[in-house]
Parts: sequence; C-alpha cells; structure tokens
Amino acid sequence: MKATEATQLYFDRAAKLVGIDPSLRRALLQPMRELRVEVSIARDNGERATFIGYRIQHDDSRGPMKGGLRYHHEVDPDEINALASLMTWKTAVVNLPYGGAKGGITCNPHTLSPAELQRLTRAFVQKIHDIIGPNRDIPAPDMGTNAETMAWIVDEYAKMHGWEPGVVTGKPIELGGSLGREQATGRGLLVALQAYLEDHGRQLAGLRFAVQGFGNVGSWAARLLRAHGGIIVAVSDAGGAIANPGGLDIDALVEHATRTRSVTGFPGGDPMAGSELLGADCDVLVPAALGGVLTRETAGAVRAQIVLEGANHPTDPGGDEVLAKSGVVVLPDIFANAGGVTVSYFEWVQNIQKLAWDEAQVNAALEKQMRAAWASLRAAARKHGCDLRTAAFTVAIERVARATTLRGL
Ligand code: NAD
Repeated sequence: MKATEATQLYFDRAAKLVGIDPSLRRALLQPMRELRVEVSIARDNGERATFIGYRIQHDDSRGPMKGGLRYHHEVDPDEINALASLMTWKTAVVNLPYGGAKGGITCNPHTLSPAELQRLTRAFVQKIHDIIGPNRDIPAPDMGTNAETMAWIVDEYAKMHGWEPGVVTGKPIELGGSLGREQATGRGLLVALQAYLEDHGRQLAGLRFAVQGFGNVGSWAARLLRAHGGIIVAVSDAGGAIANPGGLDIDALVEHATRTRSVTGFPGGDPMAGSELLGADCDVLVPAALGGVLTRETAGAVRAQIVLEGANHPTDPGGDEVLAKSGVVVLPDIFANAGGVTVSYFEWVQNIQKLAWDEAQVNAALEKQMRAAWASLRAAARKHGCDLRTAAFTVAIERVARATTLRGL
C-alpha cells in the first residue's frame, strides 16, 4: 500500500468517528502546495549533476508549516506527501501552533562530498526560499540531513531575507539551535512510554527493548531507555544487527558505531541478521529507521507486547491489523516520536524571543507537552473505544478542522 493511501485510511477511520463534513474532509486531505524543483550543481570533478527536490506543504490552518528535509536515494513525492500530512496531524496531537510540510532531495548523500552537499543545499534554497520562512514553513533535519545542513540553509536564506535563524530548526547551538534538540525525539519516546506504562501500573525498569535503527532517534532512545533501567537486547542499522539477551552496553555501542559507522562487529554482543530484529525476543520493539517495515507479511513475527514508533509510519494498516489481533499495543508515530518537533518548536520560540533556555527547562517543557498529549489521546481512545493510532488522529483532526472552520476558509 502506498504511503498516501495508508495515511488517508487512518484519516478516514478517525474522521468517521468525529463526524467531519465531506467538503472539509477533502480540504484536509489535499496538500496545500506541492513544489518540485530541478537542482543542478557542479561536482568536485567539474561535471554537472542534476537532482530533483521537493517541498510539499500540507496544511497551515494552525500556524506556519513544519517538517523535515530528507536527502535519500528513495525520496519520492508520494512518501513526502504522506509525511507532510503526518506532520499536520503530529503537530496537532502535541498541540503546537504549526501545520505540516515535508521535503527532500532524491540523492545519495553518502556519494557526495561535504562541498557538493553544501552546493546542493544552497542551490535548493535558491529554488524554495520564497515559500519557506519563520512564519511560513520551517524545515528541519531528517534522514540524510543534520545541523550542518540547517546552518547552510540559514546562511543562504540570510542572503535574500536577512538574519532569520527561525527559518529552520535543528541548527547548531552557535547559530540559534536549542539545547536538548539532538536528544529530543529519543526523550519524547521515553516520556510517551513512561506515560503509557504509568497508566497501566507498570514500570519501565527491567523491560527488554529491541531497537531498529541506530541514528539520531534509535541511539538516543536506546541511551535514555537504558538510563531508566531498560535492557536493550538487540539493535540494528543498515549494516546488520547485534544482540545480547543480558543487555547491550549502549555507551560502548555508541562509541563503536561512531568510530566504525555501524553497530556490526561490536564485541559486546552476537551478530544477528538485520531482518531478524523485528522478531527479537523483547517486551518493547522500537522501529526507528525506515517507514513501512511492519506490514501484513512482517508483523506476525513481532514478539514484543508494545511497539513504540520512533520512525515515521513504520507500520502500515495491514501491519496494524496483525499486531492488534496478537494483542500488541502500538504507541503511534504522530504521538510517540513528536518530541523532536516539540523541541524544534521551543527552538523557534527561543529564536523569535532572542533568548536561550537551559537544557533542564527544555526537557521539562517537553515532558509537560508529551504528557498533555498522552492525556488527550487516552481520553479520545476511551471516548471512541478505539486503538491509540485512531485516537491520535481523532484528536488531531478535531483540532485542525476547528482551526480551519474558525478561520472561515
Ligand atoms: P538517521 O539517518 O540519523 O538514522 C537512520 C538509522 O536507520 C541509521 O542507523 C541507519 O543505518 C538505519 N537504517 C537504515 N536502513 C535500515 C534498515 N534497512 N534496517 C535497519 N536500520 C536501518 O535518521 P533519524 O533522524 O534517526 O530518523 C529515523 C526515523 O525517525 C525516520 O523515519 C525519521 O523520519 C524519523 N523521525 C526522526 C526525527 C528526528 O528528530 N530525527 C523525529 C521524528 C521522526
């Protein structure tokens, strides 16, 4: 199933429960603007290379649009479209004054030199600068992009619009980035799980976790879950997987992965096929890499009782059905991984106010926002008697629909 079809299905299921007017339904589903641009750069060897870039702006009813910028060889408009709409629902679930957008460039960043990546980013900003901005659309890092990419965007944007660090989030601290942003998605996952467990009279300490993906989200989630007594029994990345039923030493694994660029070959565990990670013997599975990994075909292998979605749309509707039949609880992406966009929002607030918060203030504000979102989700799940993903969509759709109606659009 295509990513947009899956998002539409989730939307429709929730829209039926909250009773959205059909004309409003159409307006809420359609992206507001889809931009496709050709981006040409000179390679280091003097040859010209051409790439295709996208920025898809889904909805701005509740404020400026917000969403990551992905550099990946599989970036395609359908997935960017679905991810843009997920950002609308995600920002609404955690009640941030934002809409949703997403962008990307179809390229393999690993085959480009830092100088080429910088030229590519600047050329892309030249093509999209008049549709982004602190009060329009605020990009952020995603797969294949990082704080350095954001710094180049700030600089290129400043040439045309003056100094506006709030045009992107996820910046280096020296350029107006926020303390706590790097850890934020992992920290949000931790708080989401803690809130769920507390409601069910359970504790995090002693639970066993398997984590797919060891980039920003997976590695920080693993570190923070470990720091709260979780036992990380398996971790994978694009190169393969590593397992230790007694618990991996996560600090040592981070050091190994930073040095060798992979979790494979880590001496503190046994090698495991990457494909076996989803079926690892654990209590909580944390998909934190790619979308669409838990499907009707793969979800049957899951042995965890809880899936904590770090990645965006890691589970498709077929996967959801299989998990529900097996009694697996899914803490859905648009709630569970919203810590990143929440601290991005705090970064933007600090930029606008021209002041800097300390890390404790950022973390406390993040926890408060995530717990409030959990309370709304839990109330919606009880009211509609539905699963947590559908509940999250009902909360989001009601907020976006209300803003759209109030603005008289
Ligand atoms: P990243 O580029 O830092 O890390 C991605 C990780 O996934 C790497 O370890 C990579 O090796 C691994 N990976 C790639 N293919 C894999 C495969 N087939 N099997 C196992 N591992 C594989 O990216 P990230 O920022 O950590 O983002 C991961 C996911 O989380 C994405 O879906 C992203 O959209 C989502 N997300 C990120 C943030 C954020 O703040 N970074 C926020 C919300 C959601």
